[in-house]
Amino acid sequence: MPQHTRPRSASLSQRLLTLLITDDPHQRVRLTMTGMAALLMLCCIAVVQLVTVEAPSLFAWVQGWSLVCSIGLVVVYALIRSGFSQRWRDPAMTLFQILASLFGAAVAYVIAGPARDIVLPIVAVILVFGSFGLTRQQMLFVLVYGMAAFALAVAAVQWWPGAGGQTPLESLATMVMVVVVMASSTLLNMRISAAREKLRQQKLSVERERDLAMRDALTGLPNRRFMQDIMGWEGGRIQRSGRNELPLLIAQLDLDHFKTINDTHGHAAGDEVLCAFAQRVHACMRASDVLARWGGEEFVLMMTHTTREDGARVLERLRVNLAELPLVLSTGTNIALTVSIGAAQQQQEESAAEWLYRADMALYAAKTGGRNRVVWADLAFAATAEAAEHQA
Ligand code: GH3
Ligand code: MG
Ligand code: MG
Repeated sequence: MPQHTRPRSASLSQRLLTLLITDDPHQRVRLTMTGMAALLMLCCIAVVQLVTVEAPSLFAWVQGWSLVCSIGLVVVYALIRSGFSQRWRDPAMTLFQILASLFGAAVAYVIAGPARDIVLPIVAVILVFGSFGLTRQQMLFVLVYGMAAFALAVAAVQWWPGAGGQTPLESLATMVMVVVVMASSTLLNMRISAAREKLRQQKLSVERERDLAMRDALTGLPNRRFMQDIMGWEGGRIQRSGRNELPLLIAQLDLDHFKTINDTHGHAAGDEVLCAFAQRVHACMRASDVLARWGGEEFVLMMTHTTREDGARVLERLRVNLAELPLVLSTGTNIALTVSIGAAQQQQEESAAEWLYRADMALYAAKTGGRNRVVWADLAFAATAEAAEHQA
């Protein structure tokens, strides 16, 4: 029945395609390009065979050439299809294929007699393939190699009686054509290489700009906007995943009397203190936690999959570590510093803004309570959480 035969034939052609050019997208590109080049070569063989039927003196040469070319095509296909060529730097064997095809075309030029004229357009197509697949150096090598091969071929046609001969003017015209085709495909290759390099640079600069937009320039930490995004994703993910996940904690860290450090040691020293503080926090937190610079001398630390007890231990250890061990600047100056911390655990159905607001309120309580302490937000702060929406 047609309904049954259609999908079966579709899957058969699909299977045949997979057998020929595999499922791997990289291999598919290589094998398709190789297939196109092979088709071109087979057409060339067919035309040379047809035309030289009339020239029996060339018969043996043409048969030998056709056989060598066909074996070459099968070997290249087998090397790529089997994956053997993947151990080489160029798994598509582009340079090899182009050098071999140019050699084959130069030999064909000598032995094809009346079919000689079809060789030049074939050379042009081979070189267009090369323009896309080769580097500049490889293309320059192909340029010199191709011109040398055709200079020899033209000389052979001139001096070898079996080739049927051609006038010096015809030889000159052939060489001019070869040089024009070679030079223009090299130029095309240069343009393509330049466009590729430009694209690579643009991609790099887009990545750099994206990184700059997400990071704080002084400390290299994620900036406020990036952290808000992370909190939104992480909070949303946990809310969606149900109640089984461990809590998500957030802590706002504000350096105590930081203005005094700037006033006493200068703004540059203040900058260094901010960086040194970030490093100190990094030494105390786990790799899965995220520290961001919220702005000025305020930081936000997010701890994922952490119970409140574990989070409290981490924050207390950080507070004590900072209070007991002064930061050392590059000048050798010791800076004694303390930090006030407001922490909050995300509640069910709580938005990132409400959650942050509670941590902020806890930080305020830590400051007014005398600084150098960790205060945990309780749900009482949530009563005023609508204000967070206005603050955010
Ligand atoms: P508190 O204990 O109440 O937090 O007092 P504080 O002095 O830390 O807080 P305040 O908000 O009065 O001052 C913060 C200071 O941080 C003022 C500002 O000049 C300084 N500051 C903000 N950003 C930077 C920065 O990028 N580099 C430096 N060196 N200082 C900064
Ligand atoms: Mg502050
Ligand atoms: Mg401060």
